[in-house]
Amino acid sequence: MTMKQFSVRSHSQFEMIDITDAVRSILKEEKIQSGICHVFVPHTTAAVTINENADPDVPADIMMGLDNLIPLKDRYRHMEGNSAAHIKASLVGASEMVFVENGELVLGTWQSLFFCEFDGPRTRQVYVNCL
Ligand code: ZN
Repeated sequence: MTMKQFSVRSHSQFEMIDITDAVRSILKEEKIQSGICHVFVPHTTAAVTINENADPDVPADIMMGLDNLIPLKDRYRHMEGNSAAHIKASLVGASEMVFVENGELVLGTWQSLFFCEFDGPRTRQVYVNCL
């Protein structure tokens, strides 16, 4: 398949948005039966991760934990004032890889793919490709 992309709109400064269904839709459209699905965010203050989808307190706690580790204000030098968001994006990472079998993403029962916003609200892009 050729690379696909979709937009994600965040509504607050920090947010985790479940993008699993959007990725699944691309697999269905492209009729991908098996392979490796790569999800990538082309941003320096956003990321993608896999974590629990059942309890919404988990994404909230992840954001709180990251905020505790990397405070918004510190002796940062970056003029734009969003260094905490850049650091969080690097820690969490710009991509995830998920196996595809029988046309489905191979994820654990409680796992989802989350787009992680660290400097919202903004409209962002997510790229998806399958090999
Ligand atoms: Zn910046």
